[in-house]
Amino acid sequence: MRISKISCRNFRNITRAEIEPVATLNVFIGSNAQGKTNILESIYMFVAGRSFRTTKKEDLIKFSSDSTEVNLELIKKNITYQLYLHIDENTKTLTIDGVNRKRISDLLGYLNIVSFFPHDLSLVSGSPRMRREFIDLEISQVVPAYYKLCQNYNRVLKQRNLILKNASSQSFSRSMLSSFDDQMIDLGSRIIQKRLEMLYKLSILAKLSHRQLTDAQENLTMKYVSNIGIEESLSQAHKMSKDQITDLYAKKVQQVQEKERYRKTSLAGPHLDDISFFINNYDVRRFGSQGQQRTTVLALKLAELQFMKSETGDMPILVLDDVLSELDRKRQTMLLETAAGQAQTFVATTDISLLVADIRQKSTIYVVENGVITKQ
Ligand code: ATP
Ligand code: MG
Repeated sequence: MRISKISCRNFRNITRAEIEPVATLNVFIGSNAQGKTNILESIYMFVAGRSFRTTKKEDLIKFSSDSTEVNLELIKKNITYQLYLHIDENTKTLTIDGVNRKRISDLLGYLNIVSFFPHDLSLVSGSPRMRREFIDLEISQVVPAYYKLCQNYNRVLKQRNLILKNASSQSFSRSMLSSFDDQMIDLGSRIIQKRLEMLYKLSILAKLSHRQLTDAQENLTMKYVSNIGIEESLSQAHKMSKDQITDLYAKKVQQVQEKERYRKTSLAGPHLDDISFFINNYDVRRFGSQGQQRTTVLALKLAELQFMKSETGDMPILVLDDVLSELDRKRQTMLLETAAGQAQTFVATTDISLLVADIRQKSTIYVVENGVITKQ
């Protein structure tokens, strides 16, 4: 797939921009605070209708303006789509090919992006929530129905937590939870099953990329760390049936019953799960060097490109913000060469000399200055 046009108005510090990106490598250069990340953010908005750095709609609207709009023309398997978002303080409106859509999540499945932002560098070492969001967005991009599943699970979880929170020890009765238990276990088991299936595929691809990145010196494996008691490695766990997962989950809910009453929150389910990474069998989060953690993330990004391609039959778009300085020549070349000729790529950097010379020659440069974007 490729983006053939981006236009926006009053988006962050960009008053107006209209870009017709090339199908290959597009590089935004400029000093700090000029609008490079902003333009990438405007593209990213079309993955799921939200930003990667704010949940507040008003942050996206240019200071002292009432609204912002972003338009993306996307070509996918020879079909052109017009995606349009209009955001004001109160509402976000989505239009696809001129037709108004009620749900912003209708966007999922149109634009697939593999992004690499500075905060992704802490994917391995950061909080479990980051890794859960990572895998959930990854799956949602290729299976939009999964997003709905997560939304439903979160809704049930919220209601269940509310009951636990409000129940005093006298007023509490188990029956108040039981109808939510069944829904939670059903939806949660489906989430876990999908995560296991997709993570298994991703882990095989990541292992291959990682081998290449480390000249076959290191062996990367991944594990889904589930609090419901799935002990098997991904190669086994991905074969588990929904019923097997449901059984384990139901047992766990029984086990934590007492604890939930005094902790006043739900203590079993995919909202507490995590992903671990191992190099030659040691836990990268605990024992890996910074470089190893970075290489692990890069292997994952390379794997994502192949994963999305194999799941959707179409190469996703690659977005790299400010990460060139974090990647040495070899890693950068590997990432950009993997994408070259396959994935349309957007790069933002303050320093064009960070791009390795032969890749620089192939790129189309846009200078970003004070919110104005000019093609060179
Ligand atoms: P860096 O190289 O430091 O990452 P950048 O070019 O990526 O810089 P951006 O993150 O795109 O910079 O931000 C550019 C500017 O946009 C910042 O100075 C920021 O204050 C400004 N900005 C952010 N939100 C808004 C907004 N809603 N209205 C106007 N300006 C904004
Ligand atoms: Mg930036």
